[in-house]
Amino acid sequence: MPVGSRTLTGCVVALNADAPDADSVKDIIEVVDREPFLPAGVVKLCEWVAEYYLAGIGDAIAVAMPPGARAHATSFKTRQVATITAHGQALVPALFPALGPALPTTLGSALPPALGSALSPGQGTALTPKQGAALGIVAAAGVGLPVGELRDRGVTRDVLARLAARGLVTLRAEAEDRDPFESAALPARIPDAARELTPEQSAAFEQLAALVEAGGFRTALLHGVTGSGKTEIYVRLARAVQQRGRQVLLMVPEIALTPSVTALFRGAFGDRVAIQHSALSDGERHDQWHRIRRGDVDLVIGTRSAVFAPLTRLGLIVVDEEHDTSYKQEETPRYHGRDVAIVRATHDGALVVLGSATPSMETYQNAASGKYAQATMERRILERPLAAVRIVNMRAEYADQGPDAIISRDLASAIGDRLARRDQVLVLLNRRGYATAVFCRQCGDTFECPNCTISLTVHRARNGWRARCHYCNYSMMVPKACRKCAAPYLERAGFGTEKVEEQLVEAFPDARIARVDRDSIRRKGALASLLGRFAAGELDILVGTQMIAKGHDFPRVTLVGVISADVGLGLADFRAAERTFQLLTQVAGRAGRGERTGEAIVQTLYPEHYSIQLACRQDYRAFFEREIAFRRGMRYPPTVALINTIVRGRTFEEAMQTATEIVRRIEPSTASAGLTVLGPAPAPLVRLRGEHRVQFLVKGTRRIDMRRALEAALAGMPQVRRRVTVDVDPLSVL
Ligand code: ADP
Ligand code: ZN
Repeated sequence: MPVGSRTLTGCVVALNADAPDADSVKDIIEVVDREPFLPAGVVKLCEWVAEYYLAGIGDAIAVAMPPGARAHATSFKTRQVATITAHGQALVPALFPALGPALPTTLGSALPPALGSALSPGQGTALTPKQGAALGIVAAAGVGLPVGELRDRGVTRDVLARLAARGLVTLRAEAEDRDPFESAALPARIPDAARELTPEQSAAFEQLAALVEAGGFRTALLHGVTGSGKTEIYVRLARAVQQRGRQVLLMVPEIALTPSVTALFRGAFGDRVAIQHSALSDGERHDQWHRIRRGDVDLVIGTRSAVFAPLTRLGLIVVDEEHDTSYKQEETPRYHGRDVAIVRATHDGALVVLGSATPSMETYQNAASGKYAQATMERRILERPLAAVRIVNMRAEYADQGPDAIISRDLASAIGDRLARRDQVLVLLNRRGYATAVFCRQCGDTFECPNCTISLTVHRARNGWRARCHYCNYSMMVPKACRKCAAPYLERAGFGTEKVEEQLVEAFPDARIARVDRDSIRRKGALASLLGRFAAGELDILVGTQMIAKGHDFPRVTLVGVISADVGLGLADFRAAERTFQLLTQVAGRAGRGERTGEAIVQTLYPEHYSIQLACRQDYRAFFEREIAFRRGMRYPPTVALINTIVRGRTFEEAMQTATEIVRRIEPSTASAGLTVLGPAPAPLVRLRGEHRVQFLVKGTRRIDMRRALEAALAGMPQVRRRVTVDVDPLSVL
C-alpha cells in the first residue's frame, strides 16, 4: 500500500463491507499472498492479545509473523541448482561413448576429448574437455545438482555458465530449508523408548490422557517435584495427540537450556518437529515457520512467541516450567505466553498442560479452586531423595571470617569433597558482573548511569575495569582516580558472578570452572556449548545466574551452592518471595538427579525468611498458603487483577502531569468499575534510558471493566499514547 510517500506491506485482518468513497482511498499496489498468510485462528488470537493487553492489532500481528515476512517471497534461502536440458542429454552418448551409463562424478581423471562443433550443432565453438566432463557430471546426477556441490567436485561456476549459455544445462534457484537442529548443536537422543513409567507417572499420565481422550478445551496443572519425570509424560501425551491426528505445541522457557528435551522429542517425532525461538537466525526461523504453515510438522517446540505458531490442528499445548518469568514479554504487546496459550486452547478446543515443580501463584490458585485439573507427582524417579538443604547464616560467617566473605567455609569444604570424588558442582549467584558499585573512599562519589537511576555494575575488561548500566547498556572505563576529588582511592563494592568465579579459581586451582551468565554467553551457541561441556564431564564447577537453575538434568551434580539466596528479597516487588522460593527450589532440584544423593547449601543474611525456610524444606503447599495470605492482605494478584501504567516524559513534571490527567479521567468510573487507582507516584526506576517515569496502578477484580476505564481515559488523549506503557497482569511493578 502507498502510505504517505512510502510503500508498506500490511496484513488484512478484516474487510469493511461499506466501501468508502472511491476518491478518498488509494489503490493497493500488489497483493503479496494468494492464500491467507496467517491462519485465521492466529489472527483471532492476535485480536484477543491486542484487546486484552491494550496494544495495537499491528503490534500483536507483528509478533505472530516470522522474520522477513514483509517480503517473504524472497526470504527463503535459495541455492542454485544445475539440471541438464534435453539438448544437453542428447550430447552425452557422444561425449562418453565408452562409459555408457557409468558417467563421471568428479572432474578429474578421465576428461573426454574436446567435442567438435559438428557434435554440438549451432553452437559455433567446440565443447572443451572440462565442459564435456561437467556435462557428464550433471547428467549422471539425474536430478538437479546444487552449484555448491558441483564446485566441490571441481566444476567452476564459469564452466556452468558457459554450458547454460549453450542451452545444455539450466541454472535455477531452489528454496532450501536451513536446519536449526544442526546449528543448535543438539545432542542425539539416547534411545530408551521402552522405559516403564513409575506408578506415580502412570497415574498422572492416565489422568491427563483421559483429558486428551475427552477432546475439547481443558487446562491441567502437572505439579511434579524436580526430577519426578514430567518430560516423559509430555512425550507420551504428545504421541497420543498425534495419533488422534492433531498437533502439539511444547513451550519451554529457553530452548538452549533444555537441549535434552528437544533431543527427546526429535527422537520421538523425527522430522515432524519444528522449533521456534529467538536464538535461531532469522533465516532458520523463517524456514521453520513455513514448514509449520505448510502442515509439515506435528510438534512445535518453542519459546514464548511460539504460542502464535501457524498450527491449524492443535490438540495439546504443554507449557513447561509454567512459572518461568521469560514467558512474559516485557515490551509491547506485553503478553504472557502461558495465558495466551490458554486462550488459544479455548479457541482451538485443545488441552493445556502446565508443568512445574513450583507453580505460579496464579496457576496453583486455579488448580486449588478446581478451575484447572491437577495431577501431582511428589516423588523423584527411582525414589531418589530430594537434595538435603543446609542453610548457612552469613551474618555469623561475617562475624568469624570478616565482612568480605563470599564463599562460606561450609560451602568451600563441601566443594572440596565433591571435587575429590569427581562429582560436579553448581554455584548460583543471581547477580552478574564483578562488583555492584564503585565509590571514592575520600569523597564518597559513586558511579551512576547518566541515563538511569541505577548504579553502574563493574565488569572485568581486557584492559582494566568497565562500569556498565544493565538497563541501557551505557558503559565507561573506571578511571584510576576519582572524577570529583582526584583521590586515587576508588573502591569496588559488592560482588557478582565474575568475582565468585575468581574466588573459586583461587580456592580450587585444579578444578575446571566455567561461568554461565548473560555476559559469558553473548556468542551464538556459547550457552549450549558450555552446558554440553558440563554434561560431558569436561567441567567440574559451573557458576552462574538463574540460567543454571532451570530444567537441566546433570546426573553427576551432587552439590549446589547458593551464594546469596536473598538477592531478590531486597526488591520492593510483591512477587519477591515467590521468585526467591522458586529459584531456590529449582536450583536445589538440580542436585542429586543421578545415583548419588544431592545436597544444597544456601547462604543467606535472612535465614528466617519464610521463602528461604520453606524452599529448603521444599514445601510448596506451605509456601502457597503463607504467600496467598500475604497477597490477600495486601490486595495483590492473584487475589486481585492489576494493571501497571508507566508514563514517560522529558521532565519529571511532564510525566507527572500526564499521569495525573489520565488518573483524573479514570476516577469517575472507579465506583462502577469496582477499581482503585494507586498513584500517580514516581516509578521505582524514576529515570530510565534518559526518560523520567511516573507510574500508577489500577487494582480491581473485573479486568474487562478496568481495561475499559483505562482505555476510555487514554482514548481522549491520543497525543500522549506514545509515552504511556500499559502492562496488564504485570510480573513486576518495578
Ligand atoms: P522433571 O522435568 O520432572 O524435573 P525429568 O523429566 O527431567 O524430570 O526426569 C528426571 C530424570 O528421570 C531424567 O533423567 C529422565 O530421563 C529420568 N526418567 C524419567 N522417567 C523415567 C522412568 N520412568 N524410568 C527411569 N528414568 C526416568
Ligand atoms: Zn542506564
